[in-house]
Amino acid sequence: MPTQTHGYAAHAATTPLAPFSFERRDPLPGDVAIDILFCGVCHSDLHTARGEWGGTIYPCVPGHEIVGRVSAVGSDVTTFKVGDLAGVGCMVDSCGHCPSCTDGEEQFCETTGFVGTYNGPDKESGGHTFGGYSDHIVVDQGFVLKISHEEGALPAVAPLLCAGITTYSPLRHWKVGPGSKVGIVGLGGLGHMGVKIAAAMGAEVYVFSTSPGKRDDAKRLGAKDLIVSKDADALATHANSFDFILDTVAASHDLDPFVALLKRDGTLTLVGVPEHPHPSPTVGALIFKRRAIAGSLIGGIAETQEMLDFCSEHDLVADVEMIRIDEIDTAYDRMVKSDVKYRFVIDMATVAG
Ligand code: NAP
Ligand code: ZN
Repeated sequence: MPTQTHGYAAHAATTPLAPFSFERRDPLPGDVAIDILFCGVCHSDLHTARGEWGGTIYPCVPGHEIVGRVSAVGSDVTTFKVGDLAGVGCMVDSCGHCPSCTDGEEQFCETTGFVGTYNGPDKESGGHTFGGYSDHIVVDQGFVLKISHEEGALPAVAPLLCAGITTYSPLRHWKVGPGSKVGIVGLGGLGHMGVKIAAAMGAEVYVFSTSPGKRDDAKRLGAKDLIVSKDADALATHANSFDFILDTVAASHDLDPFVALLKRDGTLTLVGVPEHPHPSPTVGALIFKRRAIAGSLIGGIAETQEMLDFCSEHDLVADVEMIRIDEIDTAYDRMVKSDVKYRFVIDMATVAG
């Protein structure tokens, strides 16, 4: 019997999310069924629910920072058992055999593209996938993560499934470690995890922010200082000095002031996906110091597990504000105003069954 599942969905770009019930499939032989306990609220949920990227399929149940308890497993599942804690991030499927998938970089799947946890093509139902703003999910075991943090930390572990891996992966890829000078642009959900993880990797970290009031938090999270990104004099004191800058900003903005902070061969990596494009960067600032502007997309499943284990070993979790599911639209409005410290997490016990 498919499981009746209760959650919240966006039914249009301009209307508030509302209660929505639907069915999840019975676990197939390779599936893990999870009762969702907590789900983080990513800015990508907002972009999607409000149709800012185009392509949203309604009704849309967002949510890709999922933690919960395994309630059933299929007959072929050996790595999870009923009662285990488990996590699901941004992907629930991919082709499994293209060069990117075989390299463990499923997010770059070259045949079908990765199947998003929400708003993706669901090959079992023939419809589209529904995400973690719901009380139950069924996912192929290859896309389920093990949680080794203690159970009490679970709400604050949820954001690692997207904000954690989206910052960990580029920090690793661009070889951040002791001796690196790293900038994090935007102190929101992704940004605050970027600070914690880069500091734990041994880097010297600075935050670039539009919110001067976040300075004490930036330092508490592990940054050496917060620099107000509109303060040209403060930026100038750091010109040509950064090895790596990670830009997590969810809105269109000028990249040139950050490019100017990079050393020769330094890289500015974009992970924020604004609704409207950034103004075109100045070419001279790139070529005269062989600087690069790059992008990065979440991280593969094996790397997501590595990140969860790294965070568990280093005692890292997100700073969270718990909300009821019926507070989601207020949370989105606050997110647009950069008023989040630093990730909203939905307590799924507040979903009416
Ligand atoms: P968030 O919690 O809302 O944080 C974004 C931060 O950006 C804000 O807290 C704010 O920090 C800064 N900001 C916002 N508006 C700004 C503006 N107009 N100008 C300058 N700075 C501004 O969002 P998030 O969940 O971290 O997500 C950030 C972006 O990453 C979103 O676009 C999301 O879709 C994207 N994302 C990408 C991936 C990927 O794989 N590449 C994965 C997940 C999310 P300050 O107050 O410090 O300025
Ligand atoms: Zn996300």
